[in-house]
Amino acid sequence: MSDAAGSETLGNAGSETLSNKAAKKRRRREPPPDPAPLPGLVDAHTHLAACGGRDAESVHAILDRAQAVGVDQVVTVADDMVDARWAVAAAEWDDRVYAAVALHPMHAGDLDDDTAAELERMIRHPRVVAVGETGLDYYWPGKSDDCASPAVQHETFRWHIDLARRVGKPLMIHNREADRDLLDILAAEDAPETVIMHCFSGDRNVARECVDRGYFLSFAGTVSFANAEELRVAAELVPDEQILVETDAPFLTPHPYRGQPNQSYCLPYTARAIAEVRGVSEEQMARLLGANARRAYNIPLP
Ligand SMILES: [Zn+2]
Ligand SMILES: [Zn+2]
Repeated sequence: MSDAAGSETLGNAGSETLSNKAAKKRRRREPPPDPAPLPGLVDAHTHLAACGGRDAESVHAILDRAQAVGVDQVVTVADDMVDARWAVAAAEWDDRVYAAVALHPMHAGDLDDDTAAELERMIRHPRVVAVGETGLDYYWPGKSDDCASPAVQHETFRWHIDLARRVGKPLMIHNREADRDLLDILAAEDAPETVIMHCFSGDRNVARECVDRGYFLSFAGTVSFANAEELRVAAELVPDEQILVETDAPFLTPHPYRGQPNQSYCLPYTARAIAEVRGVSEEQMARLLGANARRAYNIPLP
């Protein structure tokens, strides 16, 4: 009897913990609520296929939800060849979508004659507005067997820089823990006129160096994270004409929804965080961020 009572108590305690865990898990899977609309925005970097946009209907649905809160256009970004084909298709399915194609530094080892020829073809598509994301990622080598080594990343990065310069389209940079090498390669390789530092993650010194070189700094939800003081310093010092905002969805959901699924409709949360850092009205900030994205990628008003 007492044994049974004991195990029952244990059972209850156990299931209570389990249901707390389940609630937490549910919250993590639950998309953030729609923000109040903030007109004029462009999501400068998202991954529609990874957000579930793999056919015309689901891409329209993602863009409809974004447009309802003021995000009129998006640039969807590839990180491997399969993704690049999705990105170009999405830009053909929906005229609010533009594409960027490249091999992400993690997949830098995929560059060979065939993939180079296909990327050369894709980048000339009128709705492909940038070479990206390319760059360097020093976080994953050694942690993931799938990640290209730094030496391979350097070689593929140089190839992408050359491609962007030859076709006269912007270069969209991924940088994770590789500030110095990345800036040195960009300087040595004679980067194209427009360089976009996607999901800017450097400190104020890196931010100043990028600003001095005329690069765009694109801020993701990370700028709103509690521990991102240095990033907010960067977001404050960048001049008006060099700042962009992006979701990098489905990753990097802005505060207070960190860890939950991200999509382009969440962009106003980050745009508002940037407006607050820069001490300007959110409407003014949104207009500036949208206009900068259209100028950077050379895309027309919707
Ligand atoms: Zn990236
Ligand atoms: Zn990305």
